[in-house]
This record gives sequence, structure tokens and C-alpha cells, in this order.
Amino acid sequence: MKAPAFDYARATSVAHAIALLAEHGERAKVLSGGQSLMPAMNLRLLAPDLIVDIGALDELRGIKTQGDVLSIGALTRHVDLQHSGEVAAHAPLLKESITHVAHPAIRNRGTIGGSLAHADPASELPACAIALNATIVVRGPQGERRIPAEEFFLGIYETALSLEELLTSVEVPLPPPHSQHYFCEFARRHGDYAIVGLAAQAVVKNGRLTDLRPVFFGVGDKAEHVQVPALLNTEVTRETLSEALQGLEQALDPPEDQQASRAMRFHLAKVLLARCVAALLSSPDLAAGASA
Ligand code: FAD
Repeated sequence: MKAPAFDYARATSVAHAIALLAEHGERAKVLSGGQSLMPAMNLRLLAPDLIVDIGALDELRGIKTQGDVLSIGALTRHVDLQHSGEVAAHAPLLKESITHVAHPAIRNRGTIGGSLAHADPASELPACAIALNATIVVRGPQGERRIPAEEFFLGIYETALSLEELLTSVEVPLPPPHSQHYFCEFARRHGDYAIVGLAAQAVVKNGRLTDLRPVFFGVGDKAEHVQVPALLNTEVTRETLSEALQGLEQALDPPEDQQASRAMRFHLAKVLLARCVAALLSSPDLAAGASA
């Protein structure tokens, strides 16, 4: 199928893009890498009257360390995250997760801003942004807003962005000493959207977790940050881990679909959290906790 007819505008500045969005409201859509927007239009799930192409706005591209944050422009492509030394040094969770996002052809065009604005609940980058405690920077006619990633994702394809706002960058705080990360997902094939995935950022000192931000994706309307106080600042045993795994039954509300039943998603989420804690604490015995 082909997309219905639409008008096309190539924005010449961020202000120009915002003015076009403000003028056309819900009839306009931003075009970044086009890897989600164009398939949706070709399938006629979306039919905007106007496409606002922001691809020429170089100010929205690039990765730099500024003070105590890693700032990533909205137009930074997945492949740029994959090969960036700064991302590898300061946000290795992003580097590891990005190889699970689709395939090379899509990663060569898809952007971090597009992925976060699209807010697919099975997508890797929203979960990583929350795990990394990132701030999403957006700009609209009223100026700039800085939104904690945790508050940015509202539901399936739904975010805190208003129709006239542009996502301009993502700011990731530089990790404190002793930081570690964990990423794993179950998907039918490598590169497919996750059936269940887990992105986590942690601080591990003297064999104890002093901080852990586990964020599940593919398990609900949006990425879910699960609180695990029982695992913090204590020696994690199979019993304490088992309690935390049981807690997932209250914390998550996974859907049932053609890929997996609700029970299977619960099981996979528990397996992932057990493996995550085992990996972070270098204690392989704990990984068996999910099936105990
Ligand atoms: P676009 O497609 O250009 O835009 C996506 C949406 O975000 C549109 O609604 C657009 O208006 C809006 N938008 C874009 N940029 C901005 C901005 N700066 N400000 C405000 N709104 C904006 N993704 C995954 O996470 N995991 C996968 O496993 C995965 N597999 C895929 C497999 C296939 C076959 C395909 C085609 C895509 C897959 N994707 C996957 C999606 C891919 O990662 C997209 O690149 C990404 O979701 C959107 O980025 P984009 O730059 O292409 O955005």
C-alpha cells in the first residue's frame, strides 16, 4: 500500500518546525528517520495532511558531554549511538540495547528522538531512558520544557509531548562510581520488537546493590520502572530475590497477544529480573531463583 497524499515542508530551523506544528496542529506530523512514521502511513494507520521534515536541522544532531550530563540530540541515529565512544563510556546501557533495535538498515536511519516520541511499549530506548534517569528536552511555542523520562511516556504511542512541541534532545546524567548496567530481551528473532525485555542501571558496592532501576518493556502500555527496595543495601539471598520476583505480579500488568500469554510474560519478567540481579552481583546461583 502507498501512503495517502500529503504536503511536505522541510523545516529550516527549530523555530520554523515549531511554527509549522503550531499552525497545523493534529494535521501535521514530524518526520525524523521515517522508520515508524512511513510504515504507519503506508499501512494507512496515519494520514497526516502535512509532513514536517526536520532532517536538515543539524543542531538536533550529535552526542556531547556537557558538565555532568551526556547530551544526545534528537536526530542522533541509532547507528551513531552504537558507535559513539562517549555513549560507550557514559551510557553503555544504550550501546548494548541499540543492537537489539531492528536491523542495520533501520538503525542507519532511525533516531533516538523518533523512537522516544513514537513511544512503542515494546521499544528498547524508552526503557533505557527511564533506567538511566534521563531528561527529555522538548521545545514548543512557549519555550523549552525538561521532562523526566519517567513522566514522559503516558501510554501506547502516547507521550507528554504536545502537538506543537518538538523533542530536541535527551540528557543522560553521567553515572556515579561503581555503576553497572544490565540489558536483555526475549524476542522471536534478534531485531524483532521484544516480547519481554529488561533494561536496568545499578550501583554495586561491596557486593551489595545500593541502587537499582529495573525497567521492563513489552509488558504493558508503556515501559515500567519497578521498585525493588528489598534488594537494596542488603545481602541478596534466594529468599529476598524470590520476594522481589513475587512483587512483579503486583507491579506489572502484561497483555496477552498472539506472541505470548500473560502468564508467560510474567514468567519471562521474573527470569529476566533474576538474571539481572545475578549478573550485577556476579552470583550465578541467583539466576535460578525465577524457577524456584
Ligand atoms: P519517525 O518514524 O520519523 O517518527 C516516529 C514518530 O515520532 C512519528 O509520530 C513522528 O511524528 C514522531 N517524531 C519523530 N521525531 C520527533 C521529534 N524530534 N519530536 C517530536 N516528534 C517526533 N524500534 C524499536 O525500538 N525496536 C525494534 O525492535 C524495532 N524494530 C523495527 C523493525 C522494523 C521492520 C521497522 C520498520 C522499525 C522498527 N523499529 C524498532 C522502529 C525504529 O527504531 C524507528 O527508527 C523508531 O521507532 C522511530 O525513529 P524515526 O527516527 O524513524 O522516527
